[in-house]
Amino acid sequence: STIPTVTLNNGIAIPQLGFGVWQVPDAEAAAAVRTAVESGYRSIDTAAIYENEVGTGEGLRQAGVPREELFLTTKLWNSGTRDWSGQAGRDAVLREFDASLEKLGTEYVDLYLIHWPRPMHGSYANVWQAFEQLLTDGRAKAIGVSNFGQAELTRLFETSSVVPALNQVELHPHFPQQELRAFHAEHGIATEAWSPLGQGKGLLTEPALVKVAAKHGRTVAQVVLRWHLQSGIIAIPKSVTPSRIRENLDVAGFELDAEDLEVIAGVATGERIGPDPTGFDWN
Ligand code: NAD
Repeated sequence: STIPTVTLNNGIAIPQLGFGVWQVPDAEAAAAVRTAVESGYRSIDTAAIYENEVGTGEGLRQAGVPREELFLTTKLWNSGTRDWSGQAGRDAVLREFDASLEKLGTEYVDLYLIHWPRPMHGSYANVWQAFEQLLTDGRAKAIGVSNFGQAELTRLFETSSVVPALNQVELHPHFPQQELRAFHAEHGIATEAWSPLGQGKGLLTEPALVKVAAKHGRTVAQVVLRWHLQSGIIAIPKSVTPSRIRENLDVAGFELDAEDLEVIAGVATGERIGPDPTGFDWN
């Protein structure tokens, strides 16, 4: 396959393009994941809270690609970071992890992420210690975080010697996260974009981007994904439509030039689609 990889700070390689399955019902996940793997995706991004780990695991088995050729990510839901208290909290995290493995039907994940930091609870640094255990045990080949800001990452640097392999955050041309990306680069943390297509909303009809797409004879989705790749970002677009699943992977064979990159930089609004993670506290 022609999907480039990014080498994480512990030497593990992750495909730069993966397949996200948020909002894919469990009953549809197997077909979507199978189509994705058959189309050439090797990296799949799910989470306990998506409630489709069973279908995701089923789709991976149906596709018949050897487990070691796949890169599987799942995430610890917020319930696992609630009421942290010493050993009990640590055990709760390990139980949540076991439940995810069981549902996925696998012996290990390639990447396990803390889904949200919930800084108001002050527990993520303790949760991270349980994650270190999973890494030591080899049940997670890499560990990372999601929706962390510089403050939360800095606290982890102070309390642990294991730097997160990556931080998965909202990131697309409307909300390009330059400052956080520079901070990641400084600390050896890979940047992974969630909602890389801006959830398929206004971003894909931006007139400036429509022009760039026409120039290259591509779709706006392909231009946006090309922008992620050329920016060194790992992207995990979601679709349940087979033609789009394939379209989103077909982003080799053209190159955005300096002028295109300037046009894309120009559509930044600084506005998120999702919540501000510092205040996000759902269970
Ligand atoms: P996305 O940016 O990947 O957009 C997906 C939507 O865009 C699709 O539902 C479809 O409507 C549209 N779309 C996809 N391909 C298209 C194409 N080629 N042409 C036109 N429209 C197209 O949004 P997302 O699903 O929010 O994000 C991707 C993945 O990121 C999720 O599935 C999930 O795995 C992950 N994610 C993580 C978090 C987190 O907190 N860590 C939050 C949100 C999403």
